[in-house]
Amino acid sequence: MKIGVLALQGAFREHILKLQALGVDAREIRLPEQLNALDALIIPGGESTTMGKLAVAFGLLEPLRDFTRTRPAWGTCAGLILLADRAARQKKGGQPLIGGLDITVDRNYFGRQVDSFEADLDVPALAEVARPEDPSSAFHAIFIRAPAVVEMGPGVQALARLPEDGPIVAVRQGHLLGTAFHPELSDDLRFHRYFVSMIDR
Ligand code: GLN
Repeated sequence: MKIGVLALQGAFREHILKLQALGVDAREIRLPEQLNALDALIIPGGESTTMGKLAVAFGLLEPLRDFTRTRPAWGTCAGLILLADRAARQKKGGQPLIGGLDITVDRNYFGRQVDSFEADLDVPALAEVARPEDPSSAFHAIFIRAPAVVEMGPGVQALARLPEDGPIVAVRQGHLLGTAFHPELSDDLRFHRYFVSMIDR
């Protein structure tokens, strides 16, 4: 199995290491033709406007749209923003998005004051891929200038929200996965294993 990680900008190396820990053939992706060999793609965290502009400059935007229409893709943080069909409170013209997830994201939901925080999330879907060696139940999630999902279409499943009826921070729509946080920075392989399991099916 070959999984690519979009490597234009941001936290792509950490994803590669997590995939390698699962025995996956993980590749950095910078050119459209590199997408052909892949079974699935991760779009990492970073800065979504920069990543979007670079994707346009590298001729990747349309190839990424073609890829994510049919093949499994997972966006983390800025990657979640790029996989969203809509971004809230955008200036006219907005930023280039890949789209695919029928959601609206708020890019800086937590505001400028709260730069980053950590939270223990209840993610029932991870039970499907849990192993005895995993940390127990809650997923310790790291949020960095994180977005949140503020609207979802009927085909989208909420996988996790912040405690006390907080905003939705993980979603799945068929072959597409999105997380507002950075599972590649947690000492926990379950989210990566969950994504791999989406490919096997
Ligand atoms: N809020 C950032 C953006 O708009 C995402 C931050 C991140 O990926 N850590 O791109």
